[in-house]
Amino acid sequence: MTYDNNNIFAKILRKEIPCKKIYEDDFVLSFYDINPQKKIHALVIPKGSYINLDDFSENASPEEIVGLIKGVNTVAKKLGISAINGKGYRALANISEHGGQEVPHLHFHLFGGEKVGKMVSE
Ligand code: AMP
Repeated sequence: MTYDNNNIFAKILRKEIPCKKIYEDDFVLSFYDINPQKKIHALVIPKGSYINLDDFSENASPEEIVGLIKGVNTVAKKLGISAINGKGYRALANISEHGGQEVPHLHFHLFGGEKVGKMVSE
């Protein structure tokens, strides 16, 4: 599978469509999910063109990998939901077909601001 440059998150990264930005640095962009599933529902995406977590793990540089993991923590702290300054949250990445991934650019969902509930439903 090759990376689709026209996926919606690629367009957000290129600023072709807007987002409600939470945080940005050299490695990540974070913004609110357009269809929130919990009180707080943020997305954290790497700036590089990676389809999913497996593509990222195999092809991203060590700096990019550290940058994404650090980015999740930075965003959680910024939102006040981290284990350090809040009550915690769920970080979730859907991967490919069985994972239910809809947008083919790697992203972590951060759910918080309330109890998140069962780990897997349906
Ligand atoms: P996934 O099923 O893991 O690929 O999740 C894709 C997520 O992207 C969904 O939760 C959508 O609500 C969200 N989404 C789709 N388009 C946008 C957008 N333009 N801005 C913010 N979030 C979006």
